[in-house]
Amino acid sequence: MPAMPSQVPFLDLHSQILPLRNDLDAAIRRVVDSCGFILGREVQDFEQEFAAYCGVDHAIGVDSGTSALLLILRALRIGPGDEVILPPNTFIATAESISLVGATPVFADVDLATQQLDPEKVEAALTARTRAVIAVHLFGRTAPLAALLALTRARGVHLLEDACQAHGARYQGRHVGGFGIAAAFSFYPGKNLGAFGDAGAILTRDAALAETLRQLRDHGQRAKYDHVLLGTNARLDSLQAAVLRVKLPHLDSWNAQRRRVASQYEALLRDSECLTPAPLAPFEDHVHHLYVVRHRRRSAVVHALRENGIGFGLHYPVPIHRTAAYAGLGLGPGSYPNAELLAGEILSLPMYPELTDTHIEQVCEVMTQAAFTSG
Ligand SMILES: *Cc1c(COP(=O)(O)O)cnc(C)c1O
Repeated sequence: MPAMPSQVPFLDLHSQILPLRNDLDAAIRRVVDSCGFILGREVQDFEQEFAAYCGVDHAIGVDSGTSALLLILRALRIGPGDEVILPPNTFIATAESISLVGATPVFADVDLATQQLDPEKVEAALTARTRAVIAVHLFGRTAPLAALLALTRARGVHLLEDACQAHGARYQGRHVGGFGIAAAFSFYPGKNLGAFGDAGAILTRDAALAETLRQLRDHGQRAKYDHVLLGTNARLDSLQAAVLRVKLPHLDSWNAQRRRVASQYEALLRDSECLTPAPLAPFEDHVHHLYVVRHRRRSAVVHALRENGIGFGLHYPVPIHRTAAYAGLGLGPGSYPNAELLAGEILSLPMYPELTDTHIEQVCEVMTQAAFTSG
């Protein structure tokens, strides 16, 4: 019997925090000493640094990626009677934000190879009620922005970016987040740039929209107790901003490490019978928030990974239109064939910048073995 190999976690946040521990502790101490816990200096500084990094004029720190999406839709006065187009294979928050403002989520199927929105399907889904299209940069791969921009401009609807999985990704050489009217980012701990709790940000080039978003996140206030809009509490707190300021300078090198992991997977999975991510066009980018492969006999592979102590995920096991939460839309099986096919075949392998060569080899060995034993 071969020795039981060590476990490979799906994600290991500890390995990222360890080398930054002193800087993180100092940043947290600075906030605690200042007792300025809400908005304030740290948040302003982070907003400026993140906006500068992405090359977009305005960043508005909020308390989650979900709030970011929600506030963008509210600021654009999208609501009842309006339709917003999105892919069915995204995290449910993309759809929830549309539903929570009272608008109707309208799905457009995705391209089977890239798993990103198919512009032709988006075009077919546009109606007189369409107000916006949400380009989700799923898994950290850029959505087909050129086609989506052309389409939305021609039809006079907004293009929004859900960049919650794509911090630092570039399209035609420019960072995502500045292509549409506004973009939503999440700093949930496991994202490519993650806080020590929930956090998010909105990017926009539109100064007036930025001002509205700043008011909306803080009870519609223009100044203290001068409530000019019906807002909410969706503020980014200073502790999270301080942590994010320590981490932001490392984002590019972490993304480079993710690309290293992805190319090693690509090479080592050649004999595994699984489909690795489709190659990128020269103007596209991938920051590999997740490394998602496809396998026709996924349950056998899942079994082998479990047996060998290898972490994995399914992103996402049920397309949004088939979830119980969205049963009310009445969209039966076959509504979005590509998204439905993908949901049954996708498998997310361990992916984080610190993933070691040994662990990658271990994962690929199990994947390759599974191909021979499950036939
Ligand atoms: C994480 C994520 C969100 C939501 O972000 P939260 O910070 O968890 O609210 C939205 N869309 C996508 C694609 C995500 O991955």
